[in-house]
Amino acid sequence: MTWKDKKKVANYISERRRKYKQKLVELKGGKCQLCGYAKCITALEFHHKDSSKEGQISKIYNRGWERILKEAEKTILVCANCHREIHEKQKSGETVTYF
Ligand SMILES: [Zn+2]
Repeated sequence: MTWKDKKKVANYISERRRKYKQKLVELKGGKCQLCGYAKCITALEFHHKDSSKEGQISKIYNRGWERILKEAEKTILVCANCHREIHEKQKSGETVTYF
């Protein structure tokens, strides 16, 4: 594979991830479930309600839509700010209520 081909593949993958994320965000209501933020999709993240599984969505973008959907059911859509707050609360042992 030439350098250009590699770049093409990388672009394809990131484009696919972007589309998956767009779809997931729409399915999840298109805005932060805590504060309603909806300005910028890249500032929206998925928080796993089961904190031990944190971050899995981004790892399974290459495993097919069905798998992604299943995983997404266990998450809530929050903005980056609220996401950090949730983690801060979890760290200090506070109970986090999502809705
Ligand atoms: Zn928020």
